[in-house]
Parts: sequence; structure tokens; C-alpha cells
Amino acid sequence: MTTINPDKNRLRDLPKVDIILQHEALGKWRSTPLAVDIIRELLDETRQLVMEDDSTIIPDIPDLARQACAQLDDRFRSPLRRVLNGTGVVIHTNLGRSPLCESAITEMNAVARGYSTLEYDLKNGRRGSRHNLVKQSLLALTGAEDALVTNNNASAVLLALTALSKRKEVIVSRGQLVEIGGSFRIPDICRVSGAKLTEVGSTNRTRIADFRAAVSDRTGMILKVHPSNFRVIGFVEETSLAELVALGKEFGIPVVDDLGSGALDNLSAHTTQLPSETLVRESVEAGADVVTFSGDKLLGGPQAGLVVGKTATITKMCMHPLMRAVRPDKLTFAALSATLQEYLTGTHTQSLPIWRMLTASVEELEEWLKPLSIEIQSATEDTGLRLEIGPSTSYTGGGSLPEEELPSHALVFSGSQRRLKALQTDLRLADVPLIGYLKDGGFHLDARTLMIESREEIEVLLLAGLEVES
Ligand SMILES: *Cc1c(COP(=O)(O)O)cnc(C)c1O
Repeated sequence: MTTINPDKNRLRDLPKVDIILQHEALGKWRSTPLAVDIIRELLDETRQLVMEDDSTIIPDIPDLARQACAQLDDRFRSPLRRVLNGTGVVIHTNLGRSPLCESAITEMNAVARGYSTLEYDLKNGRRGSRHNLVKQSLLALTGAEDALVTNNNASAVLLALTALSKRKEVIVSRGQLVEIGGSFRIPDICRVSGAKLTEVGSTNRTRIADFRAAVSDRTGMILKVHPSNFRVIGFVEETSLAELVALGKEFGIPVVDDLGSGALDNLSAHTTQLPSETLVRESVEAGADVVTFSGDKLLGGPQAGLVVGKTATITKMCMHPLMRAVRPDKLTFAALSATLQEYLTGTHTQSLPIWRMLTASVEELEEWLKPLSIEIQSATEDTGLRLEIGPSTSYTGGGSLPEEELPSHALVFSGSQRRLKALQTDLRLADVPLIGYLKDGGFHLDARTLMIESREEIEVLLLAGLEVES
């Protein structure tokens, strides 16, 4: 007589893969090959546990199907998710820069759902050009002769360097050989384009004479770069765009002005909190052959590189083979077109989330926080933490107005560091993640970047996070 191994006997109770695969608890993963793999893994694990410990409870069919479904949902859920930004950094590159205005979202929706006139001329029933989709708006807003749009500002600068200065020299001030972040460095982008970088001047002072001395028959272009995210203070001298343009004219060399943020309207005229920024229109007026700027920084639109300037230069860029590789898609054009419309009609100050956030006053932000603070006060006390509305510092961010600080207000939780860290993590891992920061012994949620969201939604998330902590 052979003795039956009791473990093996119990393993017979394990449900079969095919049966679990049919169970409705698998949801949308039912009968998929991915579900087969996960179920096999789950069954293997269970088998292992039973072998190790005879008293292990064998899960039933619905239970296994539910586990498989949860694991598949978790593994294949899009990692690109909506978050609520409590960091106070308005143009936050890691969190997707500019939230879009309603009209941009509506236009994207309409164009996404079906076919569109991306490259179709309705008047003549013929092929059209995507380059014309926002051209009139850009010309009206900047006063330029011509315009084109690329995938982002980095590609706009790359395209300018390649089309105008490949195998030639590009003259740049040593004070502007910047790194914008995300590994966009002017020297590197020059190298990639095939243009030879000619540095002139010094880190803190560059004069027009330095540029003049560097001009030769090998010069392809003069590049001016907005130092975006840093500032040199003290003994500083910078060459003005007008001086560079005059020099360029004298020698027939195009001058490219990379503005980075590129404002279409002056924020400082709408709030006392911010200094004035060079407008794109001013660079155009100063005579730059090409002006490049981002669509998703101060402009408040989708990721894009906007290029405006003189027809001859813009045409050269547009005809270059690289243009095909850096052109934006229909959704970008839809959102951009709607965003530019807001500027044309003067409604941008109210409709663009970026503008609402950057122009909100400290008092406004404090008022906005009050009801929220009252609603979550007692739940906070239950956790042993304290809550108050406190002054905080928010930032424009995104390499826009350099390191510009804005006074703000935040919900500030204080108490044990361990608890604060735990609350921060709970909120970050919530279904809709709420991102805040720890500073000076407190956990901060800044009102400036939260005010475009629903206060009720934030309240629900906070109450759930505090519940876990109590
Ligand atoms: C941000 C920035 C860039 C890069 O623009 P993206 O839109 O991020 O590609 C280039 N130059 C300057 C001066 C910038 O500030």
C-alpha cells in the first residue's frame, strides 16, 4: 500500500485555470492570455504555500479571479494619471506644466473623435498645410511676418540651428550657455545640430564688441538665449537684442532669440506680484529673424515650440527635412489654436488656469483655503496632528520668470515627522494623488496650485488620507 501525501491530496482542491478564466470577477481581463499567465502565477504561489504549511486555506474561484483582476489592473493601469498639485510650483515640468483652458479641451475632444482639416483646405477641396492652422493667430499676436510650430521649444531651437547654421558657426554669449533642465543644454544641442559653437565674452559680461570680433564668413547665426532658470547678479553686462540685430544686419547673419517662456501678454500688468517679462512682440519689434518659445510655459497651452520671425528665415526652417520630424500632431494644434484665441479676444486672464493661478492674490488664496480648513479640522485632530492656514512661498516654475517667488498660503499640518511623512505618502498614493511638500517641520499643501481644482474633491481626499492616519 502506498501512503497518500496529505499535501498533494489538498492540492486537488485548487481550481483549474480554465474555470477561473471564465469567472466574471475577472472583468475586462476575462479569457485574455494575460489573465492565463497571472492565474498560473497565483496558483503556483498557492501551491507553494500549501506545500509549506498544510493549514493554508485554498482560495475559491471568485477569490482567485478577483485577485487576478486586481493584479492585472494594477500592472497595466496607465502610469500617466491626473494629480492635484499642492506644491505651489505653477509651471511644474514634472507634473505636466500648464493645465489647459476649457476651450482647448473642447477643441481637442472634437478633433480627437473624428477626422479633421489637419492638412485639408476646405475652400479648394485640396491638400492643405498644418503650418497654416495657427499662423494668422501667431502673426496677429506677435506682429511677426511668418510663423511655424514644432513639437516643443527644444526642437524649435534644434531646427533653427540645423537649418540655419549646420557646418557653420553659431555665436553665443558665455553667459547664456545654459542648461534648462531635463538635459537641454545649449552646447549639447549645438553639437547635435552640427553647428559649431563659438563662445564669446565671459559668464557675467558680454559686449557687442565680443560678438563683432567673432563674426567671420563661417558664421551661420547669432543665438541669444533667455537664462530662464538662473540669474547672474552683480557686475553684469548683457548685449541687447537690438545691438545683435544691428550686427546681424551688417553682415547678413540671422539672429535667433530663444525666449524660453515667451509671454504674449504682460502678467505684471495684471498683478503686482510679478516683474515684467520680455514679450514675444518686443523681440519681433527689435528685429529678431527668429523668436522661439514654449507653448506650455507662460503661454498656458499644450507642449509645443512656437517660432515666429522673418519670412525668409522661417521658410528655410519650414523647408528643412528635420521639420517633418518635429511637427506637432492634430491634438496639439487644436489646443494651441483655442489657447491663442483666448489671447486674441482678451479672455486669457480669466480662462487660462496659468493666468488665474499666477494673478491670484494672497488674500484670495487665504479665503479659498478657509472652508477647506474648517471641514478637515476635527479629522486632523483625531490623528494627533495640528492644522493651520499659514503663509507659504509659491513659484512660477518651469524655467519661466527666473526663480520668481510668489507669496502664497497653504494648509500646514504639523506634528510628529513620522506621521507627517505617512500622511504625505497616503495622499500621494491615493486614487487621485494629492502632492504636497515637507518644509520647516510641516506638511504643506499650497493653495495657489490647488485653487483651479474642486475644493470638495480635495476635502474628500484629505478626509480619506486623515482617516488612514487616525
Ligand atoms: C524651457 C526652455 C527651452 C526648452 O523648451 P521646451 O518647450 O521644454 O522644449 C529652451 N530654451 C529656453 C530658454 C527655455 O526656457
